[in-house]
Amino acid sequence: MAAHIRKNDTVLVISGKDRGKRGPVERIIPKDGRLVVAGVNMIKRHTKGRPGVRQAGIIERPGALSLSNVILICTHCSKPTRVGLTILENGRKVRRCKKCNETID
Ligand SMILES: [Zn+2]
Repeated sequence: MAAHIRKNDTVLVISGKDRGKRGPVERIIPKDGRLVVAGVNMIKRHTKGRPGVRQAGIIERPGALSLSNVILICTHCSKPTRVGLTILENGRKVRRCKKCNETID
């Protein structure tokens, strides 16, 4: 599972209709194992107009994706990667890119 993804990470979509798109993580929904990525899986919603409040129209917003449908893009080598966890000398856990071996945090 892609459990090492956090808010504001850039991720690549690896399956579904938006495969190949990338974007920043807006929100993670841990209990559903899902996340929302800006600009990905856009859902159109029709809104009714209310005089003086808002116009009728279509609002587009990103829908949730399964965490297993995305992969993290490393901030160092810019490649989609699996990450491992490394424990530093001070006990802090950090993510480490399995491609370039740099820590991601
Ligand atoms: Zn890397």
